[in-house]
Amino acid sequence: MAVIGAGSSGFAVVNALRAHDVAVECFERGAYVGGLWRYENDNGLSGAYASLRTNASRLRMQYPSFLMRDSHGDFPHQTEMAAYLGAYADAFGLRALIRLGTTVERLEPAPDGRWWVTLKDSSRRSYGAIIIATEVFSCPSLPTYPGSFDGEVSQAHEYRVPAPFAGRHVLVVGAGPSAAEIAVEVSTVAQRTLLSVGRRARHSPLARIQTVRRGGCRTAQPAAVAAAEPDLPQARRPGGGAGSGVVASACHRFLEGIPIVSSDLLPAVWRGDVLVKPAIERLAGEAVRFVDGSEEAVDHVIYATGYQISLPFLSSPLLAASGRDLPLYRRIASPALGGLYFAGFVDAPGGLLPVVEAQGEWIAAVLTGRLRLPPPAQMRRAIERSRAAHPPAVSAGEPPQHPLRSARLPTAPAVRRPSSAPGRVARGDHVGGREHATPVLPRRTASRLRRKTRS
Ligand SMILES: Cc1cc2nc3c(=O)[nH]c(=O)nc-3n(C[C@H](O)[C@H](O)[C@H](O)COP(=O)(O)OP(=O)(O)OC[C@H]3O[C@@H](n4cnc5c(N)ncnc54)[C@H](O)[C@@H]3O)c2cc1C
Repeated sequence: MAVIGAGSSGFAVVNALRAHDVAVECFERGAYVGGLWRYENDNGLSGAYASLRTNASRLRMQYPSFLMRDSHGDFPHQTEMAAYLGAYADAFGLRALIRLGTTVERLEPAPDGRWWVTLKDSSRRSYGAIIIATEVFSCPSLPTYPGSFDGEVSQAHEYRVPAPFAGRHVLVVGAGPSAAEIAVEVSTVAQRTLLSVGRRARHSPLARIQTVRRGGCRTAQPAAVAAAEPDLPQARRPGGGAGSGVVASACHRFLEGIPIVSSDLLPAVWRGDVLVKPAIERLAGEAVRFVDGSEEAVDHVIYATGYQISLPFLSSPLLAASGRDLPLYRRIASPALGGLYFAGFVDAPGGLLPVVEAQGEWIAAVLTGRLRLPPPAQMRRAIERSRAAHPPAVSAGEPPQHPLRSARLPTAPAVRRPSSAPGRVARGDHVGGREHATPVLPRRTASRLRRKTRS
């Protein structure tokens, strides 16, 4: 088997396969392991900035099989994450299985069901199964707006430290944790920092707080705003008029979208260091015009507008990513391409590492015959149900954001086989009306698991 990518997702799969005595080789294009968490990674794909800390807590940013030291703090710094991942690789002897500085250039299905892998040095070899663990946060997605902009433009992916923005008029576009953190950092050195939170301005307590503050009421607190304004899009505007920060047209209700999580942003908005703006209407030379009619002089725009899936090495018309849309059963398996699996291609706002450890176990269970995938038609139906349950968020000027969610994600206990359990043939099954792959366990254990899943 071959795993592509030696970040936290690739690690989890390599380790699960190794633990089940499956021969595995891992290709990593950079000179280091750790992927995103390796600052200034020479793979050119890491968007980690100097001050980056995890946005999920330490307890959710560790593999359940390998706990992180308490000394790493509640939200580990990127250097601590890199050290933790290095320690994981050492503890399980993974480094010997990883070929650093080895880029996979091409991946092709062979007629016999195997996969051809072509490396950058043009060497070619075949594998029974491929696990792609190359990340969904390495190819930035950029919005398009009418007009043109004469200033400088960069992406959050390129941001490292605030120093280059000293004395400048900076606009950060985006409504995720990176946008919030970058805006706050930049505001410590910039002359003026704006944060365009796009459609989220319609329901963001940030905009509301800014508005309330301008209206002279300094007692409003975020929680109070949320409680008092359950239907924030229809909120009155005490500050009134253009520039108040709240857009009147309703989009969806408060907290229906992913909230901006940042402990530093609200104080920065209160202080007036970061000015929250709604969506961009048009670019106007050395200025930017917003949908509330306000216009601001800007000399640098930083787009923190998300990522799209990029699989430049995969040559198959049967599976192509479109933006963030990549149809996968359980966010792991392709119904169209047997022997091809993905790890880490999932939204895990609560922390990725426990999720990818479970994915690794699941993939190992499939590849060792302890789980059998349902037939392709059944997998496709499951994918369609997940897509219907999680439609893409659409906003003017921005590409649709497909949530990488599944009605059912694997959980480690459900696929971890007790060492005494004899292997048996498994069949696709339904639990609560949704497909899943049945663990191959002694009958009594399997039915107990099914009962558990149902409850
Ligand atoms: C700024 C930022 C902050 C984040 N913070 C968090 C957080 O706090 N918590 C969280 O859970 N998630 C966070 N994420 C998401 C984060 O990316 C994942 O948690 C984690 O890094 C994903 O691990 P991964 O192994 O899937 O990808 P990566 O860590 O990026 O590893 C992928 C590896 O694949 C290699 N690779 C790519 N292409 C090839 C190729 N063709 N051949 C060989 N090797 C290749 C790359 O070199 C890389 O080493 C954050 C993302 C960003 C951008």
